[in-house]
Amino acid sequence: MDKKKTLAIFCGSSSPRNIKYIEKAKDLGHKLVKEKNWNLVYGGASVGLMGAVSDAVLRAGGRVYGIIPKFLVSRGVQHHDLYSIEIVDSMHERKALIYDRADAFLALPGGFGTLDEIIEVTTWHQLRLHNKPCFILNLDGFYDGLLKLLNNFSKEGFIKTTDLNILQEVKTVDDFLAKL
Ligand code: AMP
Repeated sequence: MDKKKTLAIFCGSSSPRNIKYIEKAKDLGHKLVKEKNWNLVYGGASVGLMGAVSDAVLRAGGRVYGIIPKFLVSRGVQHHDLYSIEIVDSMHERKALIYDRADAFLALPGGFGTLDEIIEVTTWHQLRLHNKPCFILNLDGFYDGLLKLLNNFSKEGFIKTTDLNILQEVKTVDDFLAKL
């Protein structure tokens, strides 16, 4: 890893129905390099939103570190043009490495995998295992339902009100970059 800061992005491995998510992912990848001079670490896939954001970082001249488990390599989803790719034995190993390498975490729209990853790093922050910022990009209300659910968990006493703020909501790419 070089001395530049590195953002971990968790996002969908699927191609969304609405192209706007791809466009925003590309905008983010481009500006992450051009405006903030950060690198990217992510799950190392070439597919879906993951492919879109990693391609945009590469095109803008940033370094992209991919970390992918063996079983996904054999399914042919590995991105072959990254600055570096590490092939690991398990999803748990992958998550631990992404977590170690990142200076901050961001979830873009995605599915189960994205949700799992962003909630895990938020949980670790809550447990004071790290102090790295955790963001969720709530594009056009994509995550409104989740944020409402988390507010309800807190209202019912299962998440401290102060801990709710660990997962920082940002509504636009520019809003995110301003807070990074
Ligand atoms: P999902 O949101 O379910 O599409 O999962 C995306 C997240 O889980 C990414 O941030 C990846 O780290 C991981 N992931 C899930 N499916 C894949 C896949 N087919 N290829 C690579 N990574 C994946």
